[in-house]
Amino acid sequence: MTFSVHGLAVSRGIAIGRAVLVASSRADVAHYFIDPAKTLEEITRARVARNAVAEEITRLQQELPPDAPHELAALLDVHLMLLQDEQLISGVKHWIAERHYNAEWALATQYEIIARQFDDMEDEYLRERKADLEQVVERILRYMKGVASPVQPVGPAGAGRKLSQGLLLDDTMDVPLVLIAHDISPADMLQFKQSLFAGFATDVGGKTSHTAIVARSMDIPAVVGARSASQLIEQDDWVIIDGDAGVLIVDPSPIILAEYGFKQRQGELERERLNRLKHTPAVTIDGQRVELLANIEMPEDTVGAVNAGAVGVGLFRSEFLFMGRNGDLPDEDEQYQAYRQAVEGMQGLPVTIRTVDVGADKPLDRLDKAQDSHLNPALGLRAIRWSLADPPMFLTQLRAILRAAAHGQVNLLVPMLAHGTEIRQTMAMIDHARATLDNKGTPYGPVRLGAMIEIPAAALSLKLFLKYFDFLSIGTNDLIQYTLAIDRADESVAHLYDPCHPAVLRLVADTIAECNAQGKGVSVCGEMAGDVGMTRLLLGLGLRSFSMHPSRILAVKQQILRADAGKLSVWAAQVLDAEDPASLINPASSPTSVPVPANA
Ligand code: PEP
Ligand code: MG
Repeated sequence: MTFSVHGLAVSRGIAIGRAVLVASSRADVAHYFIDPAKTLEEITRARVARNAVAEEITRLQQELPPDAPHELAALLDVHLMLLQDEQLISGVKHWIAERHYNAEWALATQYEIIARQFDDMEDEYLRERKADLEQVVERILRYMKGVASPVQPVGPAGAGRKLSQGLLLDDTMDVPLVLIAHDISPADMLQFKQSLFAGFATDVGGKTSHTAIVARSMDIPAVVGARSASQLIEQDDWVIIDGDAGVLIVDPSPIILAEYGFKQRQGELERERLNRLKHTPAVTIDGQRVELLANIEMPEDTVGAVNAGAVGVGLFRSEFLFMGRNGDLPDEDEQYQAYRQAVEGMQGLPVTIRTVDVGADKPLDRLDKAQDSHLNPALGLRAIRWSLADPPMFLTQLRAILRAAAHGQVNLLVPMLAHGTEIRQTMAMIDHARATLDNKGTPYGPVRLGAMIEIPAAALSLKLFLKYFDFLSIGTNDLIQYTLAIDRADESVAHLYDPCHPAVLRLVADTIAECNAQGKGVSVCGEMAGDVGMTRLLLGLGLRSFSMHPSRILAVKQQILRADAGKLSVWAAQVLDAEDPASLINPASSPTSVPVPANA
């Protein structure tokens, strides 16, 4: 029976595929297709891991001291029994042999199926055995992690099973897959970046949660905040992810499928049309040049940035180099190599590297998130606060960035500053990092220094910021979060997360105006920059530098080519003074709206 689940639209397009349910704790297992000729090898690998865990538990059992609690021995018995469970064993074989999933993926998939059966059990004791099954599966996965797979993925990240706007073109595996999860951490999301999923949906998350941002950067349809999607959708269900409307359609009828197939093709045509703008400079009708920059998470993303026609990187979220490593932070050389790769990848175009911004919905690893759940991490030790609290870590990063600047134009951007003391400490750290490199005779290059404006206090202290910094970059995602006191990752207050709130627009407008007046650089690097609904307003406010995920660049460029910046500035002043700016920005939303001037 067809039903729909509503969430938040975060990444455009339509994906149609079979559901792969992934629990967040198992989201970081490798997901790839194996060569069908290696099926037996992969089944053997799964069996060897299971046997090894069984041996380990048996040994534990034998070594139990005589005074060990009775329950412990009984628990180990249950674990051994679960390891022999026929449904687990045959299920894993099925996913490997029939779908060519790698062993880890097959095990995680089968776990989800059995776990659901446990959830449905009336008997409380049996229901609770789900936790035991989970532990057993985690043990097997851990064992497999320590033992490299002899079976290689088919091509890079399942290439050969090429994704064509959501469709897997392959003769053995002709079914596209969509990932459904309760939550996916940004680090796990990054893992899926190279993966074979045609779309994503999660129960939790807001439009500008980092999970949503990474999904968008992958340019595949995604819906977050779909509440109970991972409970309602079952493994292997057919699902349509409508990333434009923020809706999931489960078990669609043939008529619905045909309709969405049509929409999917329309989307493809639109992309092809936009592609023709790739080499067109972004200039408004009245001749205003606009700089379109890319937001990236990893050095490899520079390939996509250059392909999309970005004229530089406006935001390299360096924290993604630090995440998902179980606290093992990258050292100076590893960071230097990564930053250098990004600089070289941009082929002479400038790269803005933001110092690490972990915390809140970007924990270093999943454990942190669990530990933080009772705090208010968005207001806690995040971004520059984290860096200043750990000087050796911060200095290491600063040295690596300065060294990378010897290879091209680098801008160093500092997140979440609010206080004069933080600014001065940061400046002292940068001086210290330079002095250390001087002492060692290590080459490094010049950098322009920038600050993110993402806390209202910063937007209200522009003169102080501009005294120290060469440029400012407005992080609207956080600026909205902190101005309106709305957790950007919390879907239950997502309806109040309003980029068009007069207070937000005022802070953005004043920041742009002050920088322009002082001849300092200013850009917007939050999601607002990639939202075509906001392009004209930002142009009207005087913004000439936008930084966004590469997948948004051409659509924003199209808006710029059609705009008259002079006329828009008059209109933007009206918008700023309006009681309900959204009604002017999106005229369709209100019958009393003042239309955007013609040709603007
Ligand atoms: C922002 O806050 O707008 C921003 C660009 O930073 P991040 O999304 O990484 O917090
Ligand atoms: Mg931010």
